[in-house]
Amino acid sequence: MRIGLFGGTFNPIHLGHLHAIQAVKEKFALYKSYLIPSAIPPHKTTGDVADAKDRLEMIRLAISDYPDLSLSDVELKRSGPSFTIDTVNYFKSILPEDTKLYLIMGLDAFLEIDTWKSYTELFMLISFIVMVRPGPGLDERSTKWETLENYCKSKISDGYKFSMSQSCCIHVGKKPIFIFDVSPLDISSTKIRKFIKEGKSIQLLVPGKVENFIKTKGLYL
Ligand code: ATP
Ligand code: MG
Repeated sequence: MRIGLFGGTFNPIHLGHLHAIQAVKEKFALYKSYLIPSAIPPHKTTGDVADAKDRLEMIRLAISDYPDLSLSDVELKRSGPSFTIDTVNYFKSILPEDTKLYLIMGLDAFLEIDTWKSYTELFMLISFIVMVRPGPGLDERSTKWETLENYCKSKISDGYKFSMSQSCCIHVGKKPIFIFDVSPLDISSTKIRKFIKEGKSIQLLVPGKVENFIKTKGLYL
């Protein structure tokens, strides 16, 4: 069984997340994916992070119509900041041994992975699916692949090689890193928080239930 793990701050969850995770699910034939909001996001230095309870509730509302998406509060229940290595070890310990686990993230998040706790260990434990969305300097397909390959070689292991035919960085002793071109929705949580502050509508950026929740609670004003 193939299972996806999709972590993030989800501050708030938006249609870009849902669109991407659905596309990944179809491409990689995932049985189920877990959305895993992080507790104290170690990399988010700015304030304006909604309460864990509210972020959790917004995910719950957003995925209520998607039976193959699940919410995991494992990082919120742990004390202290969230580290992906702990989360991966947790899922390995509760899922059957023959489960194929995939860690799903955007290229922007992947390119910061060398700042994560025990990051080299992660590549012994779990395959990656790196989703590419628009960003500065990453317009060309080949540029994205080169960026990914160079990063893997310099930060993880020189043994990683990009395989064009498999759209994947492979390594004899480590897990593969798949690159996935997700037809991009130009939505980010940052954009949503900005729109709310500017009094603009977020109707086309988040599910209706999430929009209502944000309005009712007066989040991100
Ligand atoms: P912020 O703007 O606050 O950084 P975000 O929109 O990037 O928020 P996160 O919670 O930081 O959302 O992201 C969780 C994961 O979702 C990351 O791996 C990120 O790369 C990915 N992601 C976010 N937005 C999109 C999108 N529009 N399409 C595909 N992946 C996305
Ligand atoms: Mg982000």
